[in-house]
Amino acid sequence: MILTIHRGAKEIGGSCIELQSDNSIILIDFGLPLVDENKEQVNSRKIITQTKEALLKKGFLHRIHGLYENEPPLINSILLSHPHQDHYGLLSYINPKIPVYMSKGCKELIEVSYYFRQTNYDLGNIKTVRAWKPFKKGNFTITPYLVDHSGFDALAYLIEAEGKRIFYSGDFRGHGRKKILFDNLLKHPPRNIDYLILEGSMIGRDRGKYNTESDIEKELINIFKDEEKLFFVACSSQNIDRLVSVYRACLKTKRTFVIDPYTAFVLDKLKIVSPKIPQHNNWNNIKIFFVPNSYTDRMAEDKSLYKFKASKISFEEIQDSRNKMAIKDAYLTRTIFGNKKALIDTELIYSLWEGYLDDVKPFWENHRVPIVQVHTSGHAYVEELQSFVKAVKPKHIIPNHTFYPEKYLELFGNNVMLLKDKQPVVL
Ligand SMILES: [Zn+2]
Repeated sequence: MILTIHRGAKEIGGSCIELQSDNSIILIDFGLPLVDENKEQVNSRKIITQTKEALLKKGFLHRIHGLYENEPPLINSILLSHPHQDHYGLLSYINPKIPVYMSKGCKELIEVSYYFRQTNYDLGNIKTVRAWKPFKKGNFTITPYLVDHSGFDALAYLIEAEGKRIFYSGDFRGHGRKKILFDNLLKHPPRNIDYLILEGSMIGRDRGKYNTESDIEKELINIFKDEEKLFFVACSSQNIDRLVSVYRACLKTKRTFVIDPYTAFVLDKLKIVSPKIPQHNNWNNIKIFFVPNSYTDRMAEDKSLYKFKASKISFEEIQDSRNKMAIKDAYLTRTIFGNKKALIDTELIYSLWEGYLDDVKPFWENHRVPIVQVHTSGHAYVEELQSFVKAVKPKHIIPNHTFYPEKYLELFGNNVMLLKDKQPVVL
């Protein structure tokens, strides 16, 4: 069997791994790069508007024979781990005949992204898989494992062929709302793993102040108890764990969680995956502020916006009971409140990766709004990675999705295989 890491051996983003056994070839993830060859951040929006030829030339797309249109489709299938752009973002360039396997939640969220991007891309031949149900693709037997991650319904994969067992961790952690999945993995790890392809996003990174997603909820409850303030919460509309934490903290402090139509759309899409996900029409303390941005326009265009009409809340209604509200931050929402001089006695809860904070800081500082950071990582801490490795006892560890592959040697011992991007190795 031959393994090629096309991208990800020494960086976070652009994940793509190829496994070949005779004529069977599978790819795992097909992500958008986050950095260029000089580790400078790339603008992902600028990448996805370029042609396939341009991206192949720049090395953002991989020269994999049989992957693109106008070639015989030689790739048996693509496995996606989860719905984060750095794991699926280049999918629209592949031959749509190639089947792409993913979880149901992953499919829903990818569809959301394509819907708002309004492109005519063929979404390809999407097939959904169920956790812990093995399936066969050519020489490969593939078993998806449901894992805890900030990306919804994330999967790791056990891949078997030629008597070898490979475990691809995808992105995962042990401190989110699905922590139990990680605990169970430690208790019942995949056995006899020859090669563990292990993400290491948090290696070399500060772990921050809050350990777990339930710490986040507790901290938000403490903050929301302050009854003299309106809170803005900056968080991702696709980080469902975090939305649930904010929602539950609102519920426990009798606040209304005001979301935008885009976030409502995401939650509504995911209700078929999990009935526990908060919905605007099932819970009294969720309201929707129809912020006039491009997402809302898109929904108005095909009338999907009207579904949310009954939960609509106006600027004046928010202002009337501002001390009982927490608003999900969005660019135009904060601009509207700023223009109407409605940001006095307001606080921003910044609940995203701190790398993005500098973009919004000037706005809030201009309006003299204090910022409190409440965030926990979507990725496993070093200690979690170490306990996972200890439980699995793999014969070899292959660093992936990390900026510090060489650190694996000191963290996990000498069975680490340091590979280079695009260099095939025989397993
Ligand atoms: Zn991820």
